[in-house]
Amino acid sequence: MEAEIVAIGTELLLGVTVDTNSAYLAQQLATVGVAVRRVTLVRDDLHEIVGVLRQAMDRSELVVCSGGLGPTGDDLTREAIAEATGRPLVFHQMLLDDIAARFAAFQRTMSESNRRQAYVPQDAFIIRNPRGTAPAFVAERAGRYVAALPGVPQELHYLTEHALLPYLREQHNLAEVLVVREVRVSGLTEAEAGERIADIMLGDNPVVGITAKRGQHTIRIAAQGPSKAAAEALITPLVATINERFVGFLMGEETLEQRVGRLLAERGIKLELVETEIAAPVYRALTQTAAGAQALVQVMIRPSQTNPESASREYAQALATAGNREPATARLAVVAEAGGEPIRNVHVALAAPNETPRYDTRGIDFGLAQAHDFVASTALELLRRWLEPMPSTTAEQH
Ligand code: ATP
Ligand code: MG
Repeated sequence: MEAEIVAIGTELLLGVTVDTNSAYLAQQLATVGVAVRRVTLVRDDLHEIVGVLRQAMDRSELVVCSGGLGPTGDDLTREAIAEATGRPLVFHQMLLDDIAARFAAFQRTMSESNRRQAYVPQDAFIIRNPRGTAPAFVAERAGRYVAALPGVPQELHYLTEHALLPYLREQHNLAEVLVVREVRVSGLTEAEAGERIADIMLGDNPVVGITAKRGQHTIRIAAQGPSKAAAEALITPLVATINERFVGFLMGEETLEQRVGRLLAERGIKLELVETEIAAPVYRALTQTAAGAQALVQVMIRPSQTNPESASREYAQALATAGNREPATARLAVVAEAGGEPIRNVHVALAAPNETPRYDTRGIDFGLAQAHDFVASTALELLRRWLEPMPSTTAEQH
């Protein structure tokens, strides 16, 4: 089944609210084999919403709307769906009772305008909403289905998982299942990673793609099949091929932070960290997992170096090796040239017990937030390389 999402709300087009509902819905619909082909954002305008719905219904069997089910005059989704499906709105006492009960439970008075929320298009499949006032529904016209879900993300999530997906599975006999597997790559650029699987990325089932996120890359494998097992059977040989092509660079489903945290914990290694960037991106990355946080025995934040002379590899080395360390303790030093924005280079040095220090230097030309991610992934990648020397690594097969 193919679907479209229509996210309704002027605030989405003003950019004051980020449309996370569509991303969530696309992921959830995929789990029942419904492929989202298009997402439209539309403002709170009856005429425009009706137009968008009509076009979407021409193209796709299922249209899922988010937002605009509240009691106020700018909540127009009910009216728009009624018009687009040619089904008049019908009042349901049961829904008004639900709304009244909710107000009573919170000891608030129901307004006259809440009555609007007890109307749904004729013959719609009604979804009561225990998480909010606005009921959801699925209306139908000529074999096209239009679902309306409230915009508040917690309500939308709840009703999607507890009502919309079960409804789709049961009423629409969804036979196809989409399974998405992600494997993370570390230590290669996106282009290098892409070249290794250029041939695989040409397939259409599974669909293979690479996404760059926060200085780490994820290979995403999405397969469709008549059952979860069938879809997974398509994925497994591809994962094996990817494992072969990325020996030393694959981390399975772990993030770099998780991998490094786990390896530090497994090997009982303690870590001292010296960072010269006040935002402490490496500290923030390492403390994303409990294991990483527990490995940290000392953290020093030094002022960042605006002078390129002092923001050097030698400086990183000096910070990593100065003074004594406890046994089984490594020290990681991170020196970012932070002459304002953007950070120019990052120098990382790692002094590990009984070993000569290791270094890495990478040039960066991103904005500050991305630069921080890049600093963190450069430092964590140096740690990972030490903890997990090449080429012994292959990602676990699932
Ligand atoms: P309510 O009954 O609360 O009025 P509603 O169905 O009318 O719900 P909206 O008024 O459109 O929904 O949105 C309510 C809130 O939900 C918004 O203020 C916004 O914070 C959030 N929201 C709406 N649409 C989205 C979206 N597409 N993605 C993320 N959040 C959203
Ligand atoms: Mg509203």
